[in-house]
Amino acid sequence: MSIIYHPEQYKIPDKPKESFIDPDEIWDILNAHQEPTREQVRAVIAKALDKHRLSLQETAVLVNANDPELVQEIKDAARELKERIYGRRIVLFAPLYIGNLCINDCAYCGFRSTNKKQERLTLGKNDIIDQVEALEDAGHKRLILVYGEHPRYDARFIAESVKIVYGVKKGNGEIRRVNINAAPLDVEDFKTVKEAGIGTYQIFQETYHKETYEKVHLGGVKKHFDWRLTGLDRAQEAGIDDVGIGALLGLYDWRFEMLGLIRHVNHFEAVYNVGPHTISFPRIKSASGFEVDEKYDVSDEDFTKLVAILRLAVPYTGLILTAREPEHIRDEVLQYGVSQIDGGTNIELKGYTSDKEEQDLNQEQFEINDNRSLNEVMEDLVGKGYIPSFCTACYRLNRTGEHFMEFSVPGFIKRFCQPNAMLTLAEYLEDYAPVTTKEKGYQLIDDNLKTYEDPKFKDKLVDRLERIKQGERDLYF
Ligand code: SAM
Ligand code: SF4
Repeated sequence: MSIIYHPEQYKIPDKPKESFIDPDEIWDILNAHQEPTREQVRAVIAKALDKHRLSLQETAVLVNANDPELVQEIKDAARELKERIYGRRIVLFAPLYIGNLCINDCAYCGFRSTNKKQERLTLGKNDIIDQVEALEDAGHKRLILVYGEHPRYDARFIAESVKIVYGVKKGNGEIRRVNINAAPLDVEDFKTVKEAGIGTYQIFQETYHKETYEKVHLGGVKKHFDWRLTGLDRAQEAGIDDVGIGALLGLYDWRFEMLGLIRHVNHFEAVYNVGPHTISFPRIKSASGFEVDEKYDVSDEDFTKLVAILRLAVPYTGLILTAREPEHIRDEVLQYGVSQIDGGTNIELKGYTSDKEEQDLNQEQFEINDNRSLNEVMEDLVGKGYIPSFCTACYRLNRTGEHFMEFSVPGFIKRFCQPNAMLTLAEYLEDYAPVTTKEKGYQLIDDNLKTYEDPKFKDKLVDRLERIKQGERDLYF
């Protein structure tokens, strides 16, 4: 295994795997589908509603549809597809920042090496335990661990922190799935991290436009576009088939990034026969010493439209939205197919045990816009008829490709996802919810139980819910 001491010593081959992104191809496709006709847009929407994956060309048709009536039709179609296929379950998680040391110089990030104002911190074992206990006390079961890129955060360090997190059990609390957002590794190092039992390994390409990429990644390993682009290929080679991709919106034209994301999905499908588990599309936010450049600003209108397009274009991929977005945007795009959100988020190092109310950008990576507690988010979701879920069943039963199954296996959502969401919601209501949330939550569970017609299955589900009330935990289908 490589131990990394200095940027120059990172194992970046002279010629990393060939890039599968061709900027001219993407621009040609976007330009060839400018001002699509109503018929063209409607034909693409109809194809998506028929549960077909969209091509780059078809995605470009939707991206270029600007007539407000057609945009509304795209959003309505995404809402319909989401309701029809995925139902009303929303998976909840929280980010946990492990360390903000970083050798890279990403212009937009508070953790960049040249930002001398940033207070640097790496959580030790006891710090991690304290943070995880606080997260368990709030009711969390799924975390994503976030790291800067630094010799100290090598594969063994990452694996060790994952193991520490899994080992923390407070009361009925436990973390059942740990995802990772960290720098790309080499194959051997990915294997080390995999052995710690991770869920998804997420790497955002930030921008698929190489020229822009090189302008904003000014130093460190991350300035190598192809090393990062092929990072998740090395993860696949190491046996990590559960990967998440993403683009940081606001660095370049969002329409290009959309096609970049779809091209990345195509690459995975072609080479590994399975698409990425999740796609993230964070909009860039102010950070310590960094103000967002308006040139590539993605308006709310474009942002909500692009989420709807992603739902239609890659119907079986999970879509993640984070607390970077304010409540009203989260509410809107939840309807179009976002399947995972964070709740009760704090991105300050050691933030989950701090009682500070205001964000201090010198202690955090960027600004967030949804400061609600996990319970506030839960109560809001329940009030709107969504079933918040902490389910980790597929991953633990080795049912990989879960989104694909949700999407393509008839009855999968009804048989597995929805009941498991109800079971994890019941655990939350028993262990962590105040009385008002508990009442509303059980009402929602009862309403959903009524939709189960198969008496045998319904009995099983009712029995498990009852066992949770009696104190059993971690029951799932
Ligand atoms: N250091 C690792 C890396 O760069 O991949 C992993 C973690 S980094 C802390 C996580 C993600 O935060 C980055 O991939 C980037 O997309 C996002 N990010 C960085 N600065 C941001 C900003 N100012 N606003 C919104 N998101 C930002
Ligand atoms: Fe470091 Fe990641 Fe921030 Fe870049 S985005 S400065 S690599 S933490």
